Amino acid sequence: MTLTLTLAAPSYALLQADTTCWKCGESTRVATIWVPSFTDTSDVEGPEDEPEIGGAATLRHIEDLDDNVTDHVREVATWLKPGHSETAEATYWANHCPHCDALQGDHFEMGVNGPFFFQHRAEADALELIPGRGPLTANASASQSEWMDWIALRLGL
Ligand SMILES: [Zn+2]
Repeated sequence: MTLTLTLAAPSYALLQADTTCWKCGESTRVATIWVPSFTDTSDVEGPEDEPEIGGAATLRHIEDLDDNVTDHVREVATWLKPGHSETAEATYWANHCPHCDALQGDHFEMGVNGPFFFQHRAEADALELIPGRGPLTANASASQSEWMDWIALRLGL
């Protein structure tokens, strides 16, 4: 079965941060996929339905990525890969600890005090940022937060 990729973005970037694995306590690198804007057609079923259009966001619940983005992630963020989330009872692209392979969940990463929780622009500016290679299509949901706009400013978008 071929899934229809319902989320499209004109470009993307990989953001990387260091955190501590919740399971083994070792330092672990985590990555998230950022987009400057997106169009989500997952709720478009008839001609009267409008797609959801949004600004800067990061992708969550990634079920599928287009081949170009998949190849890029495999090169620069090998620990970001499909994994079964028992909490979500589904398979999503998720960060895995390089030491013990434990899945680092979206809630843990994006939550208060997580590696992708920022209240000040200097914190978001300190993230390692790897520019993407062209547009992105995916099966995922987009999550928007103020600091994601700061990444657009940093990229001059
Ligand atoms: Zn670990």
